[in-house]
Amino acid sequence: MSTHTGLTNHTTDPPEGATCNIKGCCAVAQVRMIIAPSRFDADGVDHSQDPSTFDTCEWHWPAMRASCLSSGHRIVDATGDIGELAADFPQCSIFSSDAGRLYASARIGRSPQRATVHAWLVGQLRTQLERASACYG
Ligand SMILES: [Zn+2]
Repeated sequence: MSTHTGLTNHTTDPPEGATCNIKGCCAVAQVRMIIAPSRFDADGVDHSQDPSTFDTCEWHWPAMRASCLSSGHRIVDATGDIGELAADFPQCSIFSSDAGRLYASARIGRSPQRATVHAWLVGQLRTQLERASACYG
């Protein structure tokens, strides 16, 4: 049995034009984290005022993700399931790095560039694969 007590945060695409919420960073946001509402109210703080979303750029997201995971929270990609994506693109090899980056590459050398595409979210990777389907089909 898991003794997991952390929260589950979801990730999704930030809105068009969103920028990273890390102080001092103005880069374009790549990942929006939807933060689960805290049920911890014994500290007397009104958690309804907590920010419910947090946008991060591609440089800050891996650290944000790592600190979230090390705090015992789960991160669920709300844009899709990597297993489903792999099933929809059987001609591609789809995998993720330890940092949470997703990659897809053509299994065989049909693409002139042997392109590997990458993204932080399943939905983003799907969009790229659909765009590149001429190479991957
Ligand atoms: Zn940033």
